[in-house]
This record gives sequence, structure tokens and C-alpha cells, in this order.
Amino acid sequence: MRDEEGKPLLSALLLLGSFTFGYNLHTFLHELGHAISIWVQGGTVHGFILHPFLASYAPSTYVPDHVLLYLGGALIGGTGTVLFAFLAWRYRSPYLMPLVMACAAGLLTTSRWMFVAPFTDVFTDYHSLITLGAPPVVIFLWGLLFLVVGLTVFILYLPLVGISHRSSLVKHLIVIELGILPYQVGARLYCILTADADLQGAVSRVMYQAVALAILACLSKWLSGRIPFLRSVEMAPIRKTHAVVVWAVAAAFIIGMLLVSIPRDMVVT
Ligand SMILES: [Zn+2]
Repeated sequence: MRDEEGKPLLSALLLLGSFTFGYNLHTFLHELGHAISIWVQGGTVHGFILHPFLASYAPSTYVPDHVLLYLGGALIGGTGTVLFAFLAWRYRSPYLMPLVMACAAGLLTTSRWMFVAPFTDVFTDYHSLITLGAPPVVIFLWGLLFLVVGLTVFILYLPLVGISHRSSLVKHLIVIELGILPYQVGARLYCILTADADLQGAVSRVMYQAVALAILACLSKWLSGRIPFLRSVEMAPIRKTHAVVVWAVAAAFIIGMLLVSIPRDMVVT
């Protein structure tokens, strides 16, 4: 069935645009989740500080329940993105890949922070929850749930960017590496140029991410070949228009995100 295979570079371009939009949409929804948990406690959110490459947050007035505050991001914002996976199940179009990536990329990156929370002192929502008394095993199992759902959604909808279980492992590797790694490289470059991040640390992080993406590519090929459910979505024909529209929407979303953000140096805590 080689005739249904599109060009890997076009698939990678569509995946990169989808990842760029999805990752940032997830960031916004995560912060919105925190905001909702602040609003239900009668607190006031001063605004949103959103950035594609730096930490995002929603500064607020004091709220009494910090457990609810830290839970809000992943529990409301993160879990909410699963609705996009159901939407894509109904309308199987490459144009829905950015929303699919909000779910897949969001849950996969969140799961990583949940896994490390019991073992490190890095300040995250999940480490804060453990400090407040949440059992580390619960955070770890929550990470496992996000990992399984994120991985399932990612692999299930890869045909919307032109990869199926019949595609070669090389195509899986090319599309997934080129469809995600440039964003990580961009983030590290931004930090080096603006925040004096050290080059050696940035290179090792990019290498680590390249290896993680290679494992993801191997898993997507291997699991889609073995689990019939992961072959439920038909391969979509990918056109240049898909990539152009997705990139335009991603760029507009990031510009909008930066415009609504209050400047970091104006934050009153
Ligand atoms: Zn958070």
C-alpha cells in the first residue's frame, strides 16, 4: 500500500505545526484549570503569563486550598484536552491534529513531571502536592494514566499526519523527530539567547529529547502493529494546505498568547 504514503517532510511539517499549536494550547488550558480552581475559592486571577518557551503561570490573590490550586492545572486543564481526542474520533481530518496534539503532547509532558515529582525537589504542581501530603504513589500512578492515554492518542491519530502502521520505521523516526525536536531546539536556543542558559546543559537536554522521540517512534511503529485498536484511524492524504493552515493558526495563537500576557516584570505577588 505504498501508494497512500505521502512525503515524510510534509508530514513532519504538519506534525511540527500541530505540536507547536497543541503544546501551547495545552499550556493555556492548564493555566485556565488553575484559574478555575482559584475562582471557585473566591480568589482573583491577576492575569495570565503565557510563553511558548518559558514557564507559564496565573498569578492570583491568596486562596485557602492549595491542594485544589495545584490540582487544577492537570485535573481540569489537562484532563479536559481528552475531549479533543473524542472530537477527532468524530471528524478525522488533518486539521484536527493540532487539537489532538494538545491532548497527546500535554498528557505526555505532564506525565514526565508527575514521574519525577516523588524523586526530585524540582518545583512543580505535583511536587507541591506531595509536599502538602499527597501520597507519592498516587502522583506516580496519575502520571502512568496520563502516559498511557497520551501515548494511545498520539499513536491512534498519527495517520492524520500521514503515518500508519504500514509506514516504515524510518518514516516514523523522520516524521516524529523532525515533527517535534525543532520546537525543543528553538526553546533551548531562546533560553541561551535571552536567559544565559548554559550551552552544555541545552545540548544534553536536546540529546535526551532526541532519544525520547526515537523511543516514541519505535513504540508507535511496534504498538500500532500489535494492537488493532491503534489501527482504527484511516491514513489521511496530506496536502500542503493542511500544513500552511495549521502553521498560520499556530502562529496566530502564540502571538495572541503573548499579547494577552501581562509583562513578567509587572507581576505583583
Ligand atoms: Zn500548573
